[in-house]
Amino acid sequence: MTTGFCFDERTLWHSTGEAALFLRPGGWVQPPAAGGHAENPETKRRFKNLLEVSGLWRKLAVETAPEASEEALRRIHPPSYLNEFKRLSDADGGMLGEESPFGHGSYEIAALSAGLAIHAMDKVLTGEWTNAYSLSRPPGHHCMPDHSMGFCLMANIPVAIEEMKARHGLGKVAVVDWDVHHGNGTQAIYWERPDVLTISIHQNACYPTHLGTTAERGGGAGEGANINIPLLPGGGHQSYLMAMDRIVLPALSRFKPDLIVVASGLDANALDPLARMMAHSGTYRAMTERLMQAAATLSAGRLMMAHEGGYAEVVVPFCGHAIMETLSGEKTAVVDPFLDFVTEQQPPPEFDALEDRRLAEMAKSFGL
Ligand code: ZN
Repeated sequence: MTTGFCFDERTLWHSTGEAALFLRPGGWVQPPAAGGHAENPETKRRFKNLLEVSGLWRKLAVETAPEASEEALRRIHPPSYLNEFKRLSDADGGMLGEESPFGHGSYEIAALSAGLAIHAMDKVLTGEWTNAYSLSRPPGHHCMPDHSMGFCLMANIPVAIEEMKARHGLGKVAVVDWDVHHGNGTQAIYWERPDVLTISIHQNACYPTHLGTTAERGGGAGEGANINIPLLPGGGHQSYLMAMDRIVLPALSRFKPDLIVVASGLDANALDPLARMMAHSGTYRAMTERLMQAAATLSAGRLMMAHEGGYAEVVVPFCGHAIMETLSGEKTAVVDPFLDFVTEQQPPPEFDALEDRRLAEMAKSFGL
């Protein structure tokens, strides 16, 4: 059994410029002391660093990858978008949509971010790796074909899925997006596709605030192949496990995917500055276990994860490390120092009971 880990320091060199979280400094917003944009390299680099110092790094197959080809990118993004992105990137950078500033050279870095996802997916599909994680930036799940959004500049997962369909004739794919924000880009790209089931578990109306409702179920031939699970703000470990058990796992069993892909945002943790959920590293560990079990019965174990958001730089590494321990079946001496603290802060049983009733209703409405 081999667990792959795709990483390239160069993707951490993607610049999101000066910002205060995601606001442009000026007016009443004081410029940050340094860096300051929420989507900066630090969360990801610390995740990688913790893997190194814990020794888990040496148990993983760590590889970089080539950039995604123009052909691969064009399956998702129109030339008008790619050409404009390249033109601005070759100059001083800019912005091609909401909240996605980029610097000089970010075009090639975004193509590399997608390339790492392609490589991880390819190795899982060829059977060389049992499962794999691609840690890169910029992230992808908010990106639309013709405009960037929410720090996302290329749709990494759809680019990789379509490349696998071209290379290997990949059949049905299920994307489980546990980033705390709605996976609107993936939803839009696969809206009319019956062969790609898109499931997003997210904080209700967090980002984008107007999307991610249970009424959005896909259209045309893809009707029913999009499932949104909007959780109440403040929900924690139980909310996520109930969402998995009541909706995600039954939906996967019904769909019978040939590959399970996770859009792995680690921003549902209790200390994230851009959301209001209460998950912890144990939540990611438990969700990973459940998806590995599902993959074992449904998709010959094939499970691939691509990193998305996660902005609490001290916490994200422990969530990511728990996922990698689970995927690889290797236990290290690392103890998440936040686990007890966040476990004690979980919502009361009445809250979980209310959320469970909401989720049961949702499941029924999805025919699960
Ligand atoms: Zn997010």
